[in-house]
Amino acid sequence: MIPYGRQDISEEDIKSVIKTLKSDWITQGPAIKRFEEEIQNKIGCQFAITANSATSCLHLACMALGLKKNEWVWTSPNSFVASANAALYCAANIDFVDIDPFTYNLCAKKLEEKLHEAKNNNLLPKIVIPVHFAGQSCEMDKIYKLSKQFDFKIIEDASHAIGGKYKDKNIGSCEYSDITVFSFHPVKIITTAEGGAATTNDKLLAERMRMDRTHGIKKFGEDEINLQTKEIWNYEQKRLGFNYRLNDLQASLGFSQLKRLDDFIEKRQKIANYYDVHLAHLGIQLPHQIKNSFSSYHLYPIRVSPSKGGISQRELFYKLRENKIGVNLHYIPIYRQPFFKEIGFKKDYCEESELHFREEISIPIFANLSLKDQEFVVKKIKEIINK
Ligand SMILES: *Cc1c(COP(=O)(O)O)cnc(C)c1O
Repeated sequence: MIPYGRQDISEEDIKSVIKTLKSDWITQGPAIKRFEEEIQNKIGCQFAITANSATSCLHLACMALGLKKNEWVWTSPNSFVASANAALYCAANIDFVDIDPFTYNLCAKKLEEKLHEAKNNNLLPKIVIPVHFAGQSCEMDKIYKLSKQFDFKIIEDASHAIGGKYKDKNIGSCEYSDITVFSFHPVKIITTAEGGAATTNDKLLAERMRMDRTHGIKKFGEDEINLQTKEIWNYEQKRLGFNYRLNDLQASLGFSQLKRLDDFIEKRQKIANYYDVHLAHLGIQLPHQIKNSFSSYHLYPIRVSPSKGGISQRELFYKLRENKIGVNLHYIPIYRQPFFKEIGFKKDYCEESELHFREEISIPIFANLSLKDQEFVVKKIKEIINK
């Protein structure tokens, strides 16, 4: 089976992990700081805080921004459930803003309309979490402007998008947000097996996230000024945090992978180009790119529909799987999950997300997908469509 996404681990990556494995520190050692500094340098942000998943980072971000019970968080329904769950961990309320029909990202115009409505009802969100679907940035300039007008915070869920750019700025530089979150799950752009990072330019937010990923504790040697007892053995728990740490094995893998980021992005863009050319004129809607976007191409989402003169999603999906092409569907709208139904969401809550759900197929794209396999994917799609 050719999967829709997978990791690319080099000999160099393996050596980097083995070196750490033989060292004195396999967790809470120097590899974490080294990885975080490399993220800061590469992305161009002041602070990077790693954690054991992007989900943990989203939770840390919500806590750092002071999200409280019954406050509102809005995100995109076209995402993985983690984007919404982070809010629920803080006992906040979640709501969804429908997507743009061409980028499949949270739609800035619909956000604006929803904000005006919410203002009249006194239900404005505290935080909006735009998700950079497939690696393409949301229209952050517009969302940022709205955040000033309606006074909300922004967490970019850039789980798909490390290595991507928006208006020539690296995603993660937080030019248009308070915090950005990356995922290092193996299907994402770079990997630490499990893992994630939050970036910010705000010292206070960075400090809170750093404390909360390790129980809310400050140790002697880290920040003596803020300790009540200045003894070498002392540590003080200041907040209710968690154990969300990445370990040094993962961090050394991440450090090594990060060096390969530009190469990964170049390869993914080349594959996207290949599909753009070879899947044109087949009645397939190909992923549209906005003007200021440089996508990391975590996914290559195509859309098909008999109502647009094409094949049905179900037929193409099943036949590709029969041909050992591991296509996937991104995403079942979050509000459709049984758990969210229990909270009170109806299954047709967002019109464009519903259409997307009924038409989307993610075809294989990852750094080491061979040209032969790309040709095979295209050939099979053509065969199935023209049968
Ligand atoms: C993968 C993903 C996450 C969660 O990432 P983990 O590192 O697995 O916790 C969150 N949001 C989006 C959009 C994702 O794709």
